[in-house]
Amino acid sequence: MSMQMPPAHPFDDDKLREECGVYGVLGVSDAANFVALGLHALQHRGQEAGGIVAYDPQEGFNAAHRFGYVRDNFTSQTLMKTLPGALAIGHVRYSTAGSKGAAIRDVQPFFGEFSMGGAAIAHNGNITNAEALRRELIERGSIFQSSSDSECIIHLMARSLQKGIPERMEDALRRVEGAFSIVAMTRTKLIGVRDPLGVRPLVLGQVAGAYVLSSETCALDIIGAEYVREIEPGEMVVIDHKGLESRFPFRRQSPRFCIFEHVYFSRPDSILGGRSVYETRRQIGVELAREAPVEADLVCPVPDSGTPAAIGYSQESGIPYAMGIIRNQYVGRTFIEPTEQIRNMGVRLKLNVNRALIKDKRVVLVDDSVVRGTTSRKIKEMILDAGAKEVHFRIASPPTSWPCFYGVDTPQREKLLAASMSEEEMRAHLQVDSLKFITLDGLYRAAGEAQGRNSACPQYCDACFSGEYPVAPSDMLEKGFKLKAAE
Ligand code: SF4
Repeated sequence: MSMQMPPAHPFDDDKLREECGVYGVLGVSDAANFVALGLHALQHRGQEAGGIVAYDPQEGFNAAHRFGYVRDNFTSQTLMKTLPGALAIGHVRYSTAGSKGAAIRDVQPFFGEFSMGGAAIAHNGNITNAEALRRELIERGSIFQSSSDSECIIHLMARSLQKGIPERMEDALRRVEGAFSIVAMTRTKLIGVRDPLGVRPLVLGQVAGAYVLSSETCALDIIGAEYVREIEPGEMVVIDHKGLESRFPFRRQSPRFCIFEHVYFSRPDSILGGRSVYETRRQIGVELAREAPVEADLVCPVPDSGTPAAIGYSQESGIPYAMGIIRNQYVGRTFIEPTEQIRNMGVRLKLNVNRALIKDKRVVLVDDSVVRGTTSRKIKEMILDAGAKEVHFRIASPPTSWPCFYGVDTPQREKLLAASMSEEEMRAHLQVDSLKFITLDGLYRAAGEAQGRNSACPQYCDACFSGEYPVAPSDMLEKGFKLKAAE
């Protein structure tokens, strides 16, 4: 998916956002219905739009692409009846409300008709050399239908001389740099591929003899599928009615899974790398309490993503846990076109302080990240307005000081608070009594690396914290982006 798009929601513009979720099913009579449920469980990975492609031997390929939530589109049986077949894939993409560039032709899965039959692909990640590839493909005659980087894969496949679609996809992906977890389909095959670094997640499940591919395990649970295993970094699985074939078409590299999936993007009920996301987040809170203790009366999460870390902080510190901030779950796209007056109410529309609890208390607030710092500042004001005596921020990720180029919507570097301020400067800017971020080593320990980060060979991608990009973002370098070493 492409990068640097406007915020999803005027009241939620201070978070990094995962850009996509992918899903596929082979072997049940109404695969598209299963895909719709899976996409519903992956909705946190993208709320702007969703699409499903299904194949039926009598009806051929059918597709539906819609803006909005899965529940508002893919629950209509009138629509779902147009997507028959035992093989289907789907995609949700992140919200670009207000984006002038949002167009239905950018909504995946993308479809291509090849001499050996059709194929559809759904991509989570970001191709870091997409602009160079697009230029080259256009010069050689390709006509692009969308503005998405993912479409390059279809055009590269079209130019491959290989005989089979999986082999053409291997050819295409060898030219692609960056992060990709892909679910694809032909008339008979369901295909899953993960880039050699395995930056974005992709898992395999089974239900009643059918195979399922999903960005996260929470979307296996929703259809009662059993979690089988992760697709390995650099692995391609080709599944048909005879079973599953595993291939490793790329040069092997040390994996660099996105550590931010543990902190924020994935759902807490998912399993990543064999670890419960909830448990990793709780452990982050434990590490934070050890690294950055403080005398206080209450530990409160900034809901919802700060909750497990706040529980861990409370357990380790012995400071009571309390729901000091309540989130209104129903502020969503209802307010999609707010007036200036409503916009100024900002975060109050989504979060409210539990005054009776907060008054006269020294409060530790646990949040998952600080991006621009705008929300943190407003939350601090709300807590002080409610009568808190002190506010201490504890952040469950290290300072986010570099943009992500691997499939996460990040503001430009200048907009990231931590890019230009030290921790003390950020504390002064936010006007809080104390501000502490978990260290990178602490985060690695919470993610199961007992010795912390191996600086010679980091076990995860942590580029948005460290500035060490495991794949050079070549398009951005061409546009003048400076790597850490060049600063
Ligand atoms: S840069 Fe950050 S958000 Fe992007 S893949 Fe790496 S760890 Fe994840």
